[in-house]
Amino acid sequence: MTTDEFRAKADPWLKANAKPFAETGDQQGREGPLDESKAFMKRLHAAGFAGITYPTEYGGQGLSPAEQAAWNELVADYDLPIGVFTIGQGMPAPTILALGTEEQKRRYLPKLLSGEEVWCQLFSEPDGGSDVASLQTSATRTETGWVLNGQKVWTTVAQHADYGAIIARTDPTVPKHAGITMFIVDMHDPGVTVRPLKVATGTSPFNEVFFDGVPLPADAVLGEVDNGWHATVTMLNFERIMIGTGGRRRANPLGYDNLAKLVTERGLNSDTHVRRRLAEVYAREMSLDAFGQFLNADSAAGNPIGARGSAAKLAGAEYGLWASTVVQDIFGLDLAAGDNSLNAVLMAVMSQSGMSTAGGTNEIQRNIVAERVLGLPKDPGVDKSIPFNKIKFSR
Ligand SMILES: Cc1cc2nc3c(=O)[nH]c(=O)nc-3n(C[C@H](O)[C@H](O)[C@H](O)COP(=O)(O)OP(=O)(O)OC[C@H]3O[C@@H](n4cnc5c(N)ncnc54)[C@H](O)[C@@H]3O)c2cc1C
Repeated sequence: MTTDEFRAKADPWLKANAKPFAETGDQQGREGPLDESKAFMKRLHAAGFAGITYPTEYGGQGLSPAEQAAWNELVADYDLPIGVFTIGQGMPAPTILALGTEEQKRRYLPKLLSGEEVWCQLFSEPDGGSDVASLQTSATRTETGWVLNGQKVWTTVAQHADYGAIIARTDPTVPKHAGITMFIVDMHDPGVTVRPLKVATGTSPFNEVFFDGVPLPADAVLGEVDNGWHATVTMLNFERIMIGTGGRRRANPLGYDNLAKLVTERGLNSDTHVRRRLAEVYAREMSLDAFGQFLNADSAAGNPIGARGSAAKLAGAEYGLWASTVVQDIFGLDLAAGDNSLNAVLMAVMSQSGMSTAGGTNEIQRNIVAERVLGLPKDPGVDKSIPFNKIKFSR
C-alpha cells in the first residue's frame, strides 16, 4: 500500500468513526469508560490504524514510518477515546519489540496493539524518581523464577492495567546501575495493591502501587537479567520521543488554533497586545512542530532519534509552561472565574508542571542533552561506582 492509498483509506474512516476536536470541544483526549476505550481501540486496530509499523506476525500492520507519519497528521484533528493506551503502546510495546523474546512478542504485542490489554510503566519510587537507578523494589530469585517486593509511585493508568513493565533490583552487591532487571508483572496478582492519587485537576491520573511477595515466572524477564538499565534507557527514550514528537498541535488547548478561536469569540482580535502574544504562540508552536517533523523524518530515514528525544520533550514542556503564562496574560481573571469555555485551557495550565516532570524533569532532560547530544562533561555521580548495598541513604 502506498502512503497516498493509506491516506485515502484513513481519512474517510476517521470522518465516519471519530469526532473532531472542533466538535467535542474537549481537547484533552477523551478518556471515557474503559470498555468504550477498549471497543474503540479494537475497531481502530481492525481497520488497520493501530500498530502501523509493527510486523503483522505481532499484530501490527506491517507498514512504514511514512504511513505512521500520515496517520499522525490526519488524527491530530480528532478526539479519540484511547488515552488509556498511550503508555502501553508508546513505551512497553516498542521495548518488547526491541528487547523481548519471540514468545513475549507473540504473546503480548497483539493484545497490546489491539487494546485488549492495558499496560503501565512502573519505574518511579518514593526515593527514586530522577535518579531512577536508586530504586529499592527487589526481585529475589526463587526455584521457579523471582519474587517481587516494594513500592512504585506516579504510575499512570495502573488502576486499569493488566500488565506492567517494572524495574527491580536483582543484585544489590554491585553498583546501582548494574544490578537492575526489567520484568513483566501481572497487575491482577493478589500481591499487587493499586491506590489512586488525586491531583489538582480533581482527577486521579496516576497511582501508588505496592508489591507484596508477587511471584514472577522466569520468562517474565524483559531483556537481560541484571542489565535492566539498558532496557530502562531504551524505554525512557521511547517515552521522550513519544511525548516530544507527538505532534498533536491541533488538540492542544494551549496551542494556536484553540487560542485564536477563543480570542475571536471574545472579540479580542483587534487588541494589538493580544495579537502580538498570539503571533508569539504561533511562531513557537511552528518551530516545535517543525522540530518534531524533522526528528520523525530523520527516524524514518533510519537515523535513530536517541537522546534528541530529550531535546524535543524539553522543548514541549517549556512551551507548555510558557503558554500557561500567555493565556493568563490574554484571558486574565476570566481564566480563574469559572468561564466554562476556558475550562480546557485552565485544565491544561494546571497540568503543565506535571508535563515538565513526567518522563524525566526539565533539569534531567537538560543534563541528557548536555551530555549525550552536545558531548559536554558528565554530571558528577559520587555513588555510581559503589555497590548499591554500601550506599548510605538518609532514611
Ligand atoms: C503526569 C505524570 C505522569 C507520570 N507517570 C509515570 C509513570 O507512568 N510511571 C513512572 O514510573 N513514573 C511516572 N511519573 C513520575 C516521573 O517520572 C517522576 O516524577 C520524575 O522522574 C521525577 O522524579 P521525582 O518526582 O521523584 O522528583 P525528584 O527526582 O525528587 O526531583 C525533584 C527536583 O530535583 C531536581 N533534580 C533531581 N536530580 C537532579 C539533577 N541531577 N540535576 C538537576 N536537578 C535535579 C528535579 O529536576 C526536580 O525539580 C509521572 C510523573 C508525572 C508528573
